[in-house]
Amino acid sequence: MISRSTPCSFCRSEAGFKIGEVAYWDIAEANVVQCEKCRQMQLDPMFTEDEVVAGCIASHAHEKQKLPPRWFIKNNKRHFRAGVRFAAYLKSKGIHPRRVMEMGPGEGYFSRALATMIPGLEVVCVDADEQVAIELKRDHGFETHVGLVEDLSSVPDNEFDLIIGRDFLEHVIDPARVIQNCHRLLKTGGHLYILTPNGYQDVWHIYLRWKLYSDKTDLFGNHLNYFDGAALVEYLKQSGLTPVDCHQEGAKTFRRGAGWSFDPRHAGPPPKRLPHRDYFFEPGNDQPVSVEDVLPSPVWLDNAFFRKLLSLRYTLGHLPSLEFSINRQVGHYISCLNQKT
Ligand SMILES: [Zn+2]
Repeated sequence: MISRSTPCSFCRSEAGFKIGEVAYWDIAEANVVQCEKCRQMQLDPMFTEDEVVAGCIASHAHEKQKLPPRWFIKNNKRHFRAGVRFAAYLKSKGIHPRRVMEMGPGEGYFSRALATMIPGLEVVCVDADEQVAIELKRDHGFETHVGLVEDLSSVPDNEFDLIIGRDFLEHVIDPARVIQNCHRLLKTGGHLYILTPNGYQDVWHIYLRWKLYSDKTDLFGNHLNYFDGAALVEYLKQSGLTPVDCHQEGAKTFRRGAGWSFDPRHAGPPPKRLPHRDYFFEPGNDQPVSVEDVLPSPVWLDNAFFRKLLSLRYTLGHLPSLEFSINRQVGHYISCLNQKT
């Protein structure tokens, strides 16, 4: 048991168990600590806003320099298909949003799919990276806010029917405050949808490197939080967000040993401490992908009947993932749909 320098975001406890160490570019280093009370795992000390923004911009630029455009096209098409399926999922639950906010939307193709499948839908995006916000507005015409969802004081209360955070909550400095702010921003009866890695699997490579080699892991993607699914749902409930559909899904990573196998091959990479200032956007090289490369032909999108066919095609072309109880620490992702009541 250790005493933390940043209290737990959720229960404010200052005691925890150390389960690993990380290095973030040449920017910062921290322990990973599991809260002794509510079981959530977070960095300690937690990074500052400036550190996170600097690392995010470097990671984003590094990715764009390292990966070929076809990787972005493929990835964005995957997000678009997921958005089309999510629109069908919402309909199946009787949820018909008019105004939606996506937090940390990446290149925006998930929300673009929602806007395509739900005519008249208004999309608002929030991102900490100004460059990302500029591209979202340019590519999709979304209303954008630059900043942290922890703050967002410029957006009025009871504003949205639906708030989406896919692969988002693990990246924020204060996830409890994000959830409280989502509650504030949602209309009564509105929904919050969270998709985030199962923390026990996600933290495993950091834990193994520390356990086997007493070493730090290179924190390349900036995961600052590692969630216990049941504890997350408990916190959502406490915050006035009633579970509608909360489960864990996907068994592939678990089968390979993430979360249980002490195989040294699962240990994370040692710290490289790359100089983050060396990574930046080169003018003219900031858009490897055009919207037309990603979206299906307009034939599929312009007409309601063809959109239905497209939805059917994406649903049939996608194997349903195995679902597990939120109370078991199995599954690659934690998926939570909750309603403000
Ligand atoms: Zn706690």
